[in-house]
This record gives sequence, C-alpha cells and structure tokens, in this order.
Amino acid sequence: MNATSSRRLVSGGALYGRAAAWNPPPMTASTDPYLLRVLLWCGPCDVPMHPHPHGGERTYKCPLGCRKVPFSAEAVEAVTWTAAERRASVSAIAPPFRKSVLEQLLVKVVVRANTPDDLRFIWRT
Ligand SMILES: [Zn+2]
Repeated sequence: MNATSSRRLVSGGALYGRAAAWNPPPMTASTDPYLLRVLLWCGPCDVPMHPHPHGGERTYKCPLGCRKVPFSAEAVEAVTWTAAERRASVSAIAPPFRKSVLEQLLVKVVVRANTPDDLRFIWRT
C-alpha cells in the first residue's frame, strides 16, 4: 500500500476501508487502559502479550515468561500511536477512540527486544 491510499483510510474522524474486502467496524470509545490489549505480540515466543499491572504501573507481559523486566505499556503505546500517525491522519482522534483506531489499522505489534523502540508493525492492507 502506498502512502496516498493509506492516508485515505482515515477521513473526518471515521475510517474507510475497501468496501468489499474489509468492512471496518465503527470507531468506538474505549475505557480499556491497555491500548494494545489485543495487538501486542512477543516476537521471540510468537505469542500474544497480556496486560499486567505491576506495582501501580501498566505493563505487558509475555505469558511464557521470557522477559525478566516488565514491559512498560506507556512507552510501547506512545511509539505505536506515533507510527499510526505517520501511517494515517489520526492525530486528531481523541484518546478514548485510539484503541479502536489502532485495531482497525494494525494486525499486530511485535515486540522484538526489551525496548519499546524495537517494534515490528503489521498493518492491515
Ligand atoms: Zn515471550
């Protein structure tokens, strides 16, 4: 997908996909504090990571226990949202709608190392 067509995905606060191939659900507001609840995957283990409150901090955890250090939710969510802003015109979208927008734009976010800046984004096409 080129940059022009991906920008067309988002227009006026609603997302539009190719009608026949993929009908995006309407944007919904979320009160889930974990923006990447269904999108974040552990790269080395190839399994979904789970939200994991840790000492008052929001973190994600690999269920196979491969990571010694809790993975900060705030950092990985900020990096992912910045990537989404580059991918489509989503910067004006209010925080409660961001989870829904990310789930419409992304198949998954793969965490490759223990840092939130080494992510692989698998975008819907
Ligand atoms: Zn793992």
